[in-house]
Amino acid sequence: MVEDELPMRRTLDIGLRARGYDVDVAASGEEALDMVRRQHPDVVILDLGLPGIDGVRVAQGLRTWSNVPIIVLSARGAEAVKVAALDSGADDYVTKPFGMGELLARIRAALRRSDTGGGPTMVTTEHFTIDLAAQRVVNQQGEVRLSPTQWHLVEVLARHQGQLVTQQQLLAEIWGPGYENAAHYLRVFMAQIRQKLEPSPARPRYFHTEPGRGYRLQVDEAESPPGSPGVDSSP
Ligand code: CA
Repeated sequence: MVEDELPMRRTLDIGLRARGYDVDVAASGEEALDMVRRQHPDVVILDLGLPGIDGVRVAQGLRTWSNVPIIVLSARGAEAVKVAALDSGADDYVTKPFGMGELLARIRAALRRSDTGGGPTMVTTEHFTIDLAAQRVVNQQGEVRLSPTQWHLVEVLARHQGQLVTQQQLLAEIWGPGYENAAHYLRVFMAQIRQKLEPSPARPRYFHTEPGRGYRLQVDEAESPPGSPGVDSSP
């Protein structure tokens, strides 16, 4: 947990410990970056308003080497800052003031998303391969670094390769109940994914938007390399 204000830090520390979480507390961005490197937490709760290195830059710093789920805490109305935080690699945000119940639910959801799982399946395209068993995407340059949320979105679309996955399905699967109207999350994360995987992000070849309906991962079978079917579900 990264929070510079003492009362909030105490409240969160006590609240999380009471639910059985093991909590390490950092009071600045510098301390947070150092602590994550040493402690390898399962999830980072990151206040955006910090002295020195602010929360957005902490998220950017973590994302250069870590896939740890990041939940940011932000002041009400700071819409641009929230978007900047999501663009920097944060996975979710909670607006202050919030209830402990809400934060706990977001933590559980973040932990579920970063959980390993999935069968031995591959989706192979001319530009990248999604390995659902290894939980990674590889392109010509090597492994593509995805945040847990970006990966989860890719994973859900890959499991339904060729099919339309509705916005409601994706929001429920990835963020859980209460996010039915959060289509802007999908737009933000889909843009990030296209940036990383599409040969021409502005003209998506694989990750298609069906306006007002949902998204589809379309792999043109004819363009898959020989011997690499679009989906291989054999062991
Ligand atoms: Ca603060």
